[in-house]
Amino acid sequence: MSEKDILRQYQTYITQIIQPSCVLPLFDVLGEYEEQIKAREVEKGPTEAAILMMECIYKLPETQGWFRMLLDSFSNAGYPTLAEAIDQTDFTAIDKALAHKNIVKKLRYGLNLVKSMDILVHMEEVLLPSQKETVQRVTLEKGNTSGIQTLLDFLLRTDNPQWYRIFLEALRRGGYNHQVKVLDDEDDDPAGKSGAEGNEEGLEEMEISFSEKAGQSNLSANTDNLKDGYHQTSYHEDIPFGNLRDYQRELAEPALMGKNTIICAPTGSGKTVVAMEICRHHLEQSTEEKKEKVVFLANTIPLCQQQMEMFQKYFENTEFEVTGHFGENASQLGIQVGVENCDIIVMTPKLLEINLDEGNILRLSTFTLIFFDECHHTMKNHAYSAIMRMYMDIKLGPDPSELPQIVGLTASVGVGKSKNEQEAREHIYQLCANLDTDTISTVSEHLEELSSHVFVPNKDTRIAKRRVFNRFMDIVLELMAQVESMAKQTYDIDTLSKIPRSNRGSQSYEQWIVAVQRNCRVLKLNNEDEEQRVCRKLFTCAEHLRKYNDCLIISEDARVKDAFKYLLEYFNSMDPAFFDETDEKLVNYFQEKKANLEECANDSVTDNPKLSELELVFQEQYRFKPETRTILFVRTRALAEAVKEWVLETPALAHLRPQVLIGRRKTDNVEGMSLNKQQDALEAFQEGGSKLLIATSVADEGIDIATCNLVILYDYVGNVIKMVQTRGRGRAKDSLCILITSSSESATKEQINILQEKIMYDAIQNIQMINHSQFLEKVNKYQKMMKKKHDLERQMATARKQDPNIFLLLCGKCLKLTCKSNDLRVIKNSHRVVIDKDFISLCNVTPHPKPKKYDDIDMKFKISCSSCNHDWGILGSYLGFTDLPLLKTEGFVFVNRRTQKKHVVRKWQEFPGIIEEFNILKMGDAAQGTGE
Ligand SMILES: [Zn+2]
Repeated sequence: MSEKDILRQYQTYITQIIQPSCVLPLFDVLGEYEEQIKAREVEKGPTEAAILMMECIYKLPETQGWFRMLLDSFSNAGYPTLAEAIDQTDFTAIDKALAHKNIVKKLRYGLNLVKSMDILVHMEEVLLPSQKETVQRVTLEKGNTSGIQTLLDFLLRTDNPQWYRIFLEALRRGGYNHQVKVLDDEDDDPAGKSGAEGNEEGLEEMEISFSEKAGQSNLSANTDNLKDGYHQTSYHEDIPFGNLRDYQRELAEPALMGKNTIICAPTGSGKTVVAMEICRHHLEQSTEEKKEKVVFLANTIPLCQQQMEMFQKYFENTEFEVTGHFGENASQLGIQVGVENCDIIVMTPKLLEINLDEGNILRLSTFTLIFFDECHHTMKNHAYSAIMRMYMDIKLGPDPSELPQIVGLTASVGVGKSKNEQEAREHIYQLCANLDTDTISTVSEHLEELSSHVFVPNKDTRIAKRRVFNRFMDIVLELMAQVESMAKQTYDIDTLSKIPRSNRGSQSYEQWIVAVQRNCRVLKLNNEDEEQRVCRKLFTCAEHLRKYNDCLIISEDARVKDAFKYLLEYFNSMDPAFFDETDEKLVNYFQEKKANLEECANDSVTDNPKLSELELVFQEQYRFKPETRTILFVRTRALAEAVKEWVLETPALAHLRPQVLIGRRKTDNVEGMSLNKQQDALEAFQEGGSKLLIATSVADEGIDIATCNLVILYDYVGNVIKMVQTRGRGRAKDSLCILITSSSESATKEQINILQEKIMYDAIQNIQMINHSQFLEKVNKYQKMMKKKHDLERQMATARKQDPNIFLLLCGKCLKLTCKSNDLRVIKNSHRVVIDKDFISLCNVTPHPKPKKYDDIDMKFKISCSSCNHDWGILGSYLGFTDLPLLKTEGFVFVNRRTQKKHVVRKWQEFPGIIEEFNILKMGDAAQGTGE
């Protein structure tokens, strides 16, 4: 039976339940018909409108994926039972509800005395939010009779099998016992039971079927008992699980028992729904004495935004309040108030850490349950680890008190650099130790159901040819060799980095450049002049090498034209006013070859065969499935832009209207993308006309990109976590994942990824098999070891922080002396400003390209070294103090005045000396002192 036949067969169910105006926004393929259907709903009611909608659906072309999309939109519009019934072609649950619907239909006008507002508050489980609003509005505008009848209209269309029980309960709670009795009497009357089959069991049947279900789960719980000891009691009797699928329930089980859990399931399996259900269950345990409070941690601001919205929607009609604190809108006061008054707080781990440190949140055990989204990051120095260190300090400290429950969510626990199952197991133990895990929860009983909900795209590898001949690349390589040899004349650059200088035109070459730029600043040479000269020269050379390297990556994967444009933009952006001898020489190198390069860029012979392969893939896919949505992963940010240009300029592809999505983090190389721009891009892809999203690794991690059915990895090979998640992203049924590569090395790497994924699942399985007390013992051992290590590190850090010596700040590029660390002050624990008024005379001040206000500091200008133009940071104003230089660590080298040792630090937290806090009163004196 075709999918359309299934719909035809069950059309009456559908048209008597759905309200098209709620479904249409989610099923966005009916185009011009959409308005007609909406108009029909206003004129003739939802049933007629739904009939029209189904007619339009039958006219849709038979393309893959539409049926799943329709069911999803039913489900998301608030009809999960209907969607499941169609999916399973099993309408038993809905049929059972029908008998009671007939009773209410018969008696509906006898219920006019019931005040809709009295019972509305108790009916949130069965009404959609928009329906609730409509009832309120109608009651207000047209009076109670219209209000209650509207409510009944909606109720008679619900697909919730529990609706009658909820309705009766609402009447009871509203004090309408008489009406309840009338309905009950009718229920006993056999005449009232006309219609649907299986109705004679009535209300009790629902309870029976429910405990049957619980019984089944108990059976599976018993088999689990053989593996480990946590399924001692069953909780099924007292928690209704209307919202969870069986496999989701399986995943939730240990956490619902209060165990610290890592929930590991593929992207697309609905881990957030599992989390929300755990959360709800947890909050419902709240008592007057013990108030439960949940914090949900997510790594990035867009992820926080997304999770917060989902939680808010889920808990919309409950007593539980959801709030979010992340990004630039998070204020200290907001966090204090939010934590005080709300039940669920969504935050970034960094903000939680800072606010715990500063005492705005009193202690970690303010929360009784903490979720770690993408919890595999809880390793090494990630912000998650900082939170868990606080936790471990309490657990293993002298006075262990109550601790929050910890639940981690991930698509893949990862295996680090493990080459075999044994090493992978150790990696997983480490993660469990870090998250104080009792149980790793994976799907094992309901695998079949899981696989029907999570679509693993078919994988395909296309080996593309390389350009046979690339004159452009040869010239750039020559240029790079020239720059390298110039640097070598100054210093043996290969001793500057532990990372070997690898192939030009690769990401590892970029890593080598980063290391060179760091280390050239702390060289010890004969004298200061020599150090300054060498540092500036190496730094400048490295900068040029970086741009050439980027340019090679672009030319490898995109058009030569775009690679040339990238170089041109760099050289045009330079300010000759700051040129020294090195700059001039390097620019001359480029100028000498510029004409040649330009010639190559305009020569169509250098067209990239890899792009032709990509074009071919697009054409194949879009010819047969014009509604295809594609995510294209590329290696670098500059490349994402170049590929976008190419798509737009290729006549056959311009209709895809590509969007670019890159990370918000600023790298050494490129500015990040702002949150707003990220959201715009996602919105255009999810709702608008864009059919292609070109992304760098940002989309790897959980950003919820609407159903897409084609994932293209454009010479993009990541680690196991990336792969599982990238694949999870293409979650539409029959979706496809294509790797386009010109190197057999990439194809091999992909094989390794597949192998590592297998190793990971084997390792988890083996860990789940071992005796539970043995598991805990092992985890404990790791934890004690780590605690010792951290205690030692902390002692050392305190010792280092107490270094009372004054440090000199030298320019990070030309090593010119700028100021001393006792001229620095710290604002709000995060901004370092210089209070020495002479400092500004050393700066070159330019307007900030994106002026902003952050932490009450107005940031309007950029400052750089007046000798070499190296970026030093920002010039801001704060509490009436204008021209405050805010320094960035990358701008400087720090020299211990006593020992003459040089330091380069990545974060201000690593700065070895002491920096006083910014004090307004003292600043006032200083300002007066200088006669202002
Ligand atoms: Zn400088």
